Amino acid sequence: MAWLTGYPREKIHWFPTIDPDKCAKCGMCINCGKNVYDWTENGSRVARPYQCVVGCTTCANLCLGNAITFPDIKEVREIYRREGIWTKVKNQLAEEGKLQIGKGQV
Ligand code: SF4
Ligand code: SF4
Repeated sequence: MAWLTGYPREKIHWFPTIDPDKCAKCGMCINCGKNVYDWTENGSRVARPYQCVVGCTTCANLCLGNAITFPDIKEVREIYRREGIWTKVKNQLAEEGKLQIGKGQV
């Protein structure tokens, strides 16, 4: 399912940034299942930022050099609130039978 329920991914500025001075070239970020990074002779590079899963920080958590940062999650939460994304996702999950919602709960 589309976790943004139609909201354009490119309008959500959530993706990793690498500080090249801190990168220890451990390669851990290349393990990202969304293929966000490319490996270069200078180490890792963020090649496809909008393939990053909104809210995920796994690569930063496991980065040997502590070189990866993300924007402030508050801005993302504000978009989710303003656009009603939490409610839309919940409704979609209910439609798919993955979630039971009682009347008046959405
Ligand atoms: S935060 Fe998650 S999805 Fe995004 S690049 Fe890192 S590991 Fe991949
Ligand atoms: S995980 Fe961190 S230290 Fe390792 S290659 Fe990626 S950016 Fe560099």
